Amino acid sequence: MLVFDKCGKPDMTSAAPVFCVSDAAAALSRFNEEAYTVFPGFCDVHVHFREPGFSYKETIASGSRAAAAGGYTAVCTMPNLDPVPDSPAHLRAQTDLIARDAVIGVYPYGAITVGEKGEALSNMAGMAGEVIAFSDDGKGVQSEDRMRAAMTEAKRLGKRIVAHCEVNELLRGGYIHAGAYAASHGHKGICSESEWKQIERDLRLAKETGCGYHVCHISTKESVALIRAAKRDGVDVTCETAPHYLLLDEHDLQEDGRFKMNPPLRTLADREALLEGVLDGTIDMIATDHAPHSAEEKAKGLAGSAFGIVGLETAFPLLYTGLVRSGILPMARLMDLLVWNPRRRFHLPLGNDFSVWDLNARYRIEPERFLSKGRATPFASREVNGKCCLTVYHGKTVYESLEA
Ligand SMILES: [Zn+2]
Repeated sequence: MLVFDKCGKPDMTSAAPVFCVSDAAAALSRFNEEAYTVFPGFCDVHVHFREPGFSYKETIASGSRAAAAGGYTAVCTMPNLDPVPDSPAHLRAQTDLIARDAVIGVYPYGAITVGEKGEALSNMAGMAGEVIAFSDDGKGVQSEDRMRAAMTEAKRLGKRIVAHCEVNELLRGGYIHAGAYAASHGHKGICSESEWKQIERDLRLAKETGCGYHVCHISTKESVALIRAAKRDGVDVTCETAPHYLLLDEHDLQEDGRFKMNPPLRTLADREALLEGVLDGTIDMIATDHAPHSAEEKAKGLAGSAFGIVGLETAFPLLYTGLVRSGILPMARLMDLLVWNPRRRFHLPLGNDFSVWDLNARYRIEPERFLSKGRATPFASREVNGKCCLTVYHGKTVYESLEA
């Protein structure tokens, strides 16, 4: 059995990670054939589990089971909830559910501003001990002064700011990329500048305040270039992109809500720049931005559907098939992006967490089989390699494929 361990990986400073397969020998005993591959537990720093507040879309239980089915053992949940975790009491509404229902490690973000409204800062100090970092994901923090204050406070608390970057006044009602497809099909477009302009501002603020800064779901070539330059300049910045920005672009768009997410699928040039960023280390990690909605909310075409697609159950097979098997990315580098870099950046050491995969299993993605409540994915019916057979979290089996 081939085991991808941490050999040759960068030093995980705080609390050295343990990846100990022998501890789970019982769970592994039925996979003792050469056909299986064991990976350390994947870590996704950007998911939406919708609870409390929107449990018709997803719950901590369904979301964490979907994550386990995708080989993930640690995920960080975004705060666009009801109540928004902007105070210890509001945060507790979510942490109580996590304690009761999560089958893997689920780490909540605290909001940057009260109600994610972009105005008064949340009770960051009150939540700092219990949140992974601070984010207003779903929205950009529009005010420069507010973002500066948030970074200053986060720095004081030893926490990072994780930013969804979007300049509202540049959106102009857009919902897919302002490119060739939008023009030829009569859709309203979102320009690239709406993303990179705010990244540019925040990089300046991160340099000024010294705050550790992480950029969510980058999708444009300009974002890659800005972050690459900031890293060279010594700014404490990391960033993520998502599988769909690496594997799809506006040429793949169809008149269907499952192709609608924010940021949108951009141009081929953007996709190529993102791949380059992954290869040269500018992009540190791949997150799914798993954002489930009801079937009804995703059935209103590109213009009317809600933004967001699911991703936890398809990320590894898609990336493995599209990037590793095709020879673009070495497997060890994919492990950096899915395991080691996010865990190191957000201090999430690996316990006895791993998943077992049959990488030769070839199949079509069938959303109706997802454990997530969300079914909208632009990758429906795409053929992929890699089937998750077993996932173990803290030595306990949390997912097992019945077909394995
Ligand atoms: Zn976002």
